Amino acid sequence: MSPFVCNHDGSCEEIRLCCTETEMTLSREDAQRIESLGYKKEDFLVRVMAGFCELKNVDGHCYFYDPESKVCRIYENRPEGCRYYPIIYDARKRKCILDKDCPSAVTVSREEIRKVCHRVRKLVETLREEAAHGESPC
Ligand code: SF4
Repeated sequence: MSPFVCNHDGSCEEIRLCCTETEMTLSREDAQRIESLGYKKEDFLVRVMAGFCELKNVDGHCYFYDPESKVCRIYENRPEGCRYYPIIYDARKRKCILDKDCPSAVTVSREEIRKVCHRVRKLVETLREEAAHGESPC
């Protein structure tokens, strides 16, 4: 599992930008893990372009984000992409980069990016394959 957590250094505690208007894509494995907690796919997933499935937003934030307590309600079981964030894969440049929208991105070292990049790339490949073969979770 990734060493990264939401709120990497605490600087986004009041905002949680990554859980606001999220565009996080889920794999079948992600969806199955969350469903095993008792959630229904139709409640937390939405189908977007090219057959990908993203977390649904409710009132401007991720379905699983609790604005009162400012926590993720499925933190231990959150999608793999949430674990790697703010490290994302730039398909055009074919490399891992940091999402500049994340206020904690400056705290992530090159070494951390290097360590986790192969997993991020693999996840992107899996998401693409599932979408291409009509095997996305929604
Ligand atoms: S699943 Fe959790 S960590 Fe991921 S966007 Fe939703 S609230 Fe944030």
